[in-house]
Amino acid sequence: NEKMDCLFCKIIAGEIPSNKVYEDEYTYAFRDINPQAPVHVLLVPKKHMKNILECDAETAAHLTDAVRALAKIEHVDENGFRLLTNCGQHGCQSVHHLHLHLLGGKQLSEKMD
Ligand code: 5GP
Ligand code: ZN
Repeated sequence: NEKMDCLFCKIIAGEIPSNKVYEDEYTYAFRDINPQAPVHVLLVPKKHMKNILECDAETAAHLTDAVRALAKIEHVDENGFRLLTNCGQHGCQSVHHLHLHLLGGKQLSEKMD
């Protein structure tokens, strides 16, 4: 099934190594392998879902809590950061397990595409 072949499910399960930044009962966060900024962390729900369109309110709340914790851990809570999720073909989503990119640690571009 979808979940068995999912790269991020394997990372959450520890079957593929990752540089963990944060973990709680519902979420897992790790450094992007190809960072686009000094801080580039991927935050995922432990429960497999394809993208933001499949995200329930409870999971969204857990992700929000994790973002707050992560921002402190990565010291971007003062100067700010960008939080984004790619969805589907036009969004260039390449891994089909919902993930939020947290980007920061420098002045980011005003351009978002
Ligand atoms: P997307 O393009 O789906 O929004 O984001 C996928 C992200 O996952 C990319 O930024 C890519 O660099 C990252 N990525 C892909 N494979 C791996 C991996 O095996 N380990 C880690 N840490 N990041 C990965
Ligand atoms: Zn998955």
